[in-house]
Amino acid sequence: MTARLIDPFNRAIEYVRLSVTDRCDLRCAYCMPQGFSDFQVPEHWLTFDEIERVIGVFGKLGVTRIRLTGGEPLVRKGIPELAARLSALPGIEDLSLSTNATRLARHASELRRAGVSRINVSLDSLRSERFKAITQGRLDKVMAGLMAARSAGFRPIKINMVVMAGVNDDEVEDMVEFCIEHDFTLRFIETMPMGSTGRSASEHYVNLQDVRKRLEQRYELLPGVMPGGGPARYVRVAGTALRIGFITPISQHFCASCNRVRLSVDGVLYLCLGQEDKVELRPLLRNGATDSDLEQAIVAAIARKPERHEFRDRPEQVLRFMSMTGG
Ligand code: SAM
Ligand code: SF4
Repeated sequence: MTARLIDPFNRAIEYVRLSVTDRCDLRCAYCMPQGFSDFQVPEHWLTFDEIERVIGVFGKLGVTRIRLTGGEPLVRKGIPELAARLSALPGIEDLSLSTNATRLARHASELRRAGVSRINVSLDSLRSERFKAITQGRLDKVMAGLMAARSAGFRPIKINMVVMAGVNDDEVEDMVEFCIEHDFTLRFIETMPMGSTGRSASEHYVNLQDVRKRLEQRYELLPGVMPGGGPARYVRVAGTALRIGFITPISQHFCASCNRVRLSVDGVLYLCLGQEDKVELRPLLRNGATDSDLEQAIVAAIARKPERHEFRDRPEQVLRFMSMTGG
């Protein structure tokens, strides 16, 4: 029988969000500062061999789901190769990817063949100028990536939209229509005060309970569920195939059902998105630790997983940007 990682609050940890890089080709206003370039040096990046080994150990400990994230995962070379290696590991049943999609058109088919089953794409605006103002990037590239992912057979494809007052909150209905038309799942996200960028964006915070009420004026929303739904609370839009998820870390936190930890590109295991608790696995990997040493380190780390984030009570405390932890 597979060992299980159970934390002090009786939560089973079965999901690892794996940041394969802290770099990104965009600079979303809420995530990474303009001109930021203080990245991890390549010598600190876990190699594919090291990642495969650590994830293999997580697999032995009962982790079944891995999400490749970053930074922008597709800026690191060879991600389809890494995906193939991870999806072949015993115990790993579900390999997914979070991406800004700027490079997805090039890689979608290869990623699918490599065993990536599900894709989440960040998309905060359907208007080119506004998209550029928020992310510094080009909307047409993201659209090409999304369409390539659909042609490659990814289902579901989830669109993640961070809703910000006075920035893009007037596009909520447009995004619903866009997702109905293209058969995407839509998730709205509340801004989180991660790093200086997250805190400034939080000045534009929108409570998603209000967005939901607004949508109810126009659509009939029915209770819905989504397999592997994670923290989002889902509704279905009557008369369509659309599901909408609300990710509400601030207005209604979901820490009681947290099932995940995050591994950064330099091998730091973060136990909670909103806390500093962490364990460095890279020194173990590079100093001759056995798999059994790694297992023990991971089990000991999980025993220290905090109960919850404190984004509301102590919004100043998380200094790292989302891109550093693997959002
Ligand atoms: N680059 C990929 C992307 O954009 O999807 C993956 C990494 S990104 C850090 C993962 C998610 O974090 C994105 O959906 C992004 O919108 C979200 N994110 C980043 N900073 C955030 C913040 N301060 N508050 C809420 N969501 C944030
Ligand atoms: Fe890059 Fe994703 Fe952060 Fe945007 S949210 S800057 S795409 S890592």
